[in-house]
Amino acid sequence: MQYYIEHIASVIHGTVIQERRNDRIEQLLTDSRRLIFPKSSLFFALKGPRRDGQTFIGYLYHKGVRNFVVSEQPDLAQYPAANFVQVPDVLQALQLLAAYHRSRFTIPVIGITGSNGKTIVKEWLNQILDQQFAIIRSPKSYNSQIGVPLSVWPMSESHELAIFEAGISKRGEMEKLEAIIKPTIGILTNIGEAHSEGFDSIKEKLEEKLRLFDTVNTLVYRNDQDLVEETVQQMAQSRGIRLFAWGGKKDGAVQITGIEKTAHNTIITASYKGDVEKIVIPFTDDASIENAMHCWCTALLMKQDMQKVQQQLLLLTRVAMRLEMKTGINNCTVINDSYSADLSSFTIALDFLSQQAQHNRRTVILTDIPESGRNEKELYTEVANAMQQRKVNRLIGIGETIHHHAAAFEAAGIAELLFFPTVDAFKKDFHHIPFRDETILLKGARVFELEEIDRLLEQKVHQTVLEIDLNAVTHNLKQYQQLLRPETKLMAMVKAFAYGSGSFEVANVLQYHKIDYLAVAYADEGVELRKGGINLPVMVMNVDPTTFDVLVQYNLEPDIYAPELLHAFEAYLKREGIQQFPVHIELETGMNRLGFSESQLPVLLESLRSKLFKVQSVFSHLAASEDPQQDAYTKQQAERFEGMVSKLQQILGYPFIKHISNTAGISRHPELQMDMVRLGIGMYGIDSGNTHLLQLQEVSTLKSTIAQIKQLEEGETVSYGRKGVVTRKTNIATVRIGYADGYPRSLSTGVGKMWVNGHLAPVIGIVCMDMTMIDITDVPQVKVGDEVVIFGKQLPVEQVAHWAQTIPYQMLTGISQRVKRVYFQD
Ligand SMILES: *Cc1c(COP(=O)(O)O)cnc(C)c1O
Repeated sequence: MQYYIEHIASVIHGTVIQERRNDRIEQLLTDSRRLIFPKSSLFFALKGPRRDGQTFIGYLYHKGVRNFVVSEQPDLAQYPAANFVQVPDVLQALQLLAAYHRSRFTIPVIGITGSNGKTIVKEWLNQILDQQFAIIRSPKSYNSQIGVPLSVWPMSESHELAIFEAGISKRGEMEKLEAIIKPTIGILTNIGEAHSEGFDSIKEKLEEKLRLFDTVNTLVYRNDQDLVEETVQQMAQSRGIRLFAWGGKKDGAVQITGIEKTAHNTIITASYKGDVEKIVIPFTDDASIENAMHCWCTALLMKQDMQKVQQQLLLLTRVAMRLEMKTGINNCTVINDSYSADLSSFTIALDFLSQQAQHNRRTVILTDIPESGRNEKELYTEVANAMQQRKVNRLIGIGETIHHHAAAFEAAGIAELLFFPTVDAFKKDFHHIPFRDETILLKGARVFELEEIDRLLEQKVHQTVLEIDLNAVTHNLKQYQQLLRPETKLMAMVKAFAYGSGSFEVANVLQYHKIDYLAVAYADEGVELRKGGINLPVMVMNVDPTTFDVLVQYNLEPDIYAPELLHAFEAYLKREGIQQFPVHIELETGMNRLGFSESQLPVLLESLRSKLFKVQSVFSHLAASEDPQQDAYTKQQAERFEGMVSKLQQILGYPFIKHISNTAGISRHPELQMDMVRLGIGMYGIDSGNTHLLQLQEVSTLKSTIAQIKQLEEGETVSYGRKGVVTRKTNIATVRIGYADGYPRSLSTGVGKMWVNGHLAPVIGIVCMDMTMIDITDVPQVKVGDEVVIFGKQLPVEQVAHWAQTIPYQMLTGISQRVKRVYFQD
């Protein structure tokens, strides 16, 4: 099935406003950063609230892209060799094309929607069915208005089954996804409270989601919730859809009669067509049981061999669809994405690899790619070209097939090639293979068990880790961007290791999302960013004369906040013969920390007449933007600021950026956006000024493990000073975290709690330097080695900070550097 641009133009009802050649199109591109194959890509210039795809045409043309779908006519003379198709709505055109493509296939298509579990059900179904069918499925959680068309596009004649997920956040969206996916089998995972903001009620949200199933033959769903049961029944009757219900009710297709949990497994008994059926799954939590039931029921519906299905169910793994990044041996950075190996997830991982600028050298460790039904040579050629595009220096291939296609990698110009038939062979040779100062991407199919390689490459540290969810950072950033006018710039505060969560790792994500500025507290933090390959402008808030050289050397922009500093820097620039150095001016308006006061303005104005400085921005800091009782003060600060700025304006005679808002300022004082805002803690998921307008996600999870468990009798005591007195038969777990890791000592003796196995367990006795004891008497089934969450999604850092009588800022920045940071991204 081949597509040429003329054909596509007619499918999307576009007008060809310039045609040079009738090019063949293979890839659809919506994000200029994801460009891999310029010649065969068709770029859709989508318009977002803050970004206009149209502005990337020049860049893409320069990179070799020759086919564009646009809504406005560009300056055609600038792009003499390109084809342009004009449409009124570019997103709609993308969706039309995907819908057309889908309509050319008659294979079964499973469409999944619901509030939670979509991606896991999709991935598990794929695991269960992939020996029976050549499957195409959405990569990762590509389920949006853009993600769904991109998921459907790679469908080809070789596929026998498709599994796509659909996610929506407001009314009217599902109709569009339905037209693209056209599922023949539907799965409704569940309906929760999440993302209700776009809807008036849960019922409305449910009805909108059910639109995905307008024309399915059969819908798989759970009948335990009355609202779901009623609404689904009504829909089924009016649209003539068959239902395959499971749950506790008698009249469903599958009725659960027993759920028995052991230490690691759950045995589910159910009646189906009058028979008693039993399955065992390797999980015990309720969400996994629900997800597994959806998969099992779908397999029943599809008349699969139950013995094979059971075998696969036992092999289900926690879906670590998140890619993980951490520090490895010899100053390497290791990116582990060894959950699946298919072309689309490989290109996404490569993309993440190429964002990491901390090392120049890049190695990819890649297994065979079990891409069902594709021509292998073509597949590996595509893989090799993608690697070459992303400037990969070395490939370590694991498996027979990839070795067989070594020539494709040679032809693409990958400088170093190494092949091993198995992971074991690699392990034997491991100590002879140099790994140093490079970024290593591990990518492979589960059967290869790349975890063993991951373990070899990982830097060994104690088992307390701070996990940073980079998707949550992006999500939070977008939440705030929604509150901004399109032209308002954004400065991200990444001082104090990005509030404890890393430095260039977080900055990389922000740079990728095209924010305007970064700010750090001290020059050395800025140097760290530059060494990590960050090239965004960086403001340094706290400078002193000893760091002037470093500022200039690393192109960091100082905050000039006082006459002494002003004069010292002036003298330095004169001596070095530097002119027009970029600086930021801080004004004092009421925080009484740093900044020029009103009375110091004349001195400042005098100096700014010279050509030594180029003022990039002028700013001030709000003292109480989160507090409604201080709104009059906040307003007064803003007025003082405006007054002082107007004096600067008169002297400078060129434009500069004005800014005053921090996180709570953005969420509570939209009128103070000015030209730029400074987003800090909100990016990390916390905003004390948030009036529930924003749905923020927890970014950091601090985790540790249990080193030992003891049984104590009444009267015994725990830890230093014997402050933890046991009043009953008590089980104590020793957790590998203490105040040296940043777990406050003030959480001793029951003040703090930790999350273990679904329960909160109180601290008992005094918190030690490296260890803390918790009382797990009331927590079932805890073992040595189990994970303990100190704070995270289950236990918000605000809560823990509150127990410790401090604020989240201090908790987050207090996590010591010996705690290893691990980064995740979907
Ligand atoms: C830290 C800081 C911010 C960010 O504050 P949040 O409350 O974390 O948003 C903004 N501006 C300045 C000058 C800061 O020092």
